[in-house]
Amino acid sequence: MDRILPSDEAYELLGLTRELADGELTPRAARYEERGEFPREVLRTIGAAGLLGLPYAEADGGGGQPYEVYLQVLEILAGSWLAIAESVSVHTLSCYPIATHGSERQRKLLPDLLGGDLLGAYCLSEPQGGSDAASLTTRARRDGDDWIVRGTKAWITHGGQADFYNVFCRTGGPGAAGISCLFVDADTPGLLPQLPERTMGLRATAPAQVVLDDARVAGERLVGEEGSGFRIAMDALDAGRLGIAACAVGLGQAALDYAVAYAREREQFGKPIGDFQGIGFMLADMATQVSAARALMLAAARLKDAGRPFRIEAAKAKLFATDVAMQVTTDAVQVLGGYGYVSDNPVERWFREAKVLQIVEGTNQIQRMVISRSLTRP
Ligand SMILES: Cc1cc2nc3c(=O)[nH]c(=O)nc-3n(C[C@H](O)[C@H](O)[C@H](O)COP(=O)(O)OP(=O)(O)OC[C@H]3O[C@@H](n4cnc5c(N)ncnc54)[C@H](O)[C@@H]3O)c2cc1C
Repeated sequence: MDRILPSDEAYELLGLTRELADGELTPRAARYEERGEFPREVLRTIGAAGLLGLPYAEADGGGGQPYEVYLQVLEILAGSWLAIAESVSVHTLSCYPIATHGSERQRKLLPDLLGGDLLGAYCLSEPQGGSDAASLTTRARRDGDDWIVRGTKAWITHGGQADFYNVFCRTGGPGAAGISCLFVDADTPGLLPQLPERTMGLRATAPAQVVLDDARVAGERLVGEEGSGFRIAMDALDAGRLGIAACAVGLGQAALDYAVAYAREREQFGKPIGDFQGIGFMLADMATQVSAARALMLAAARLKDAGRPFRIEAAKAKLFATDVAMQVTTDAVQVLGGYGYVSDNPVERWFREAKVLQIVEGTNQIQRMVISRSLTRP
């Protein structure tokens, strides 16, 4: 696919990512997903290549890349192995609170967070509520200079694997204004990750509950002002949703490419099935949808790179790209017929994986809510 990138460095970066994806990810994906094995070593390789801090400033130890370039890197990773792309996206999200709201002292941690050795987790959801995040109940109370944190976080990607956890918890009264963000080290006594969930897809990086059983966290680990946690969480998600859109575009492109290759080879009634209009038009629709999703994602990213508001465009990109990924992976299974329904071909895994993209970082109903509110209550 022909891409127009903003710099020679970006072309090199995408070339390097493609090599890494083909050499390190594609050969491993099916095996790790089947075994549900967390790919820590693969993520170390990704980190060593500088891909775990791409959109953050070089002065802080990041890659100094525009968001539009970072997203296209994610897209390539997702086309090889969605779990790795999602992992990179979640880690990038986890660095956001300190990078944007951290104190001078906290920002000194950034080179370690962005350098590629450490892995972060973002803990917003709880068992009783994901969409209505402002009603979260995990509570942190003061004890001298420290916070004592009690509650349960749910669906935490990297739960049990992360080196640090951004824990959004209630330090004040009800609603969004009572929520703060704490930066918690993995070895904090009382931070207790549970066993990974048994998921439909993304089994290599299956999320886990994280119980906070009176975990003691130093007062200086509060990120931003007390009561600003919800705003930090939502701002982080605006950028994170573009990461999920990129994962969806990459997955959709992979499913399209696979279906096209199959339709050229597979013959029925004496000719390649791609020559039947019923299949050819399906492929044409898939290609158009993937291109449209990428265009929407890049348009939102370019607004962000220009320092312009991008929340609504990010919500549209997440909504559209993830619905496209679901449709395109479904169609790819159809193009392969019975062979699409068995694990000998990756399309059945991609079909299962696409579903989660419509759920994470705000379900697609929540994206529609964000978009419709901007129209009716501007
Ligand atoms: C694999 C995976 C990884 C995840 N990783 C993380 C992570 O790292 N960190 C984290 O904090 N969370 C994570 N999540 C949680 C995810 O963000 C939530 O699952 C999601 O926000 C939905 O919350 P819920 O599951 O509680 O569903 P609910 O909020 O209970 O929603 C149930 C259904 O109701 C719909 N709904 C809810 N409210 C409305 C409304 N107002 N209007 C219309 N429909 C509505 C939803 O769209 C959904 O269809 C992960 C989830 C999964 C599956």
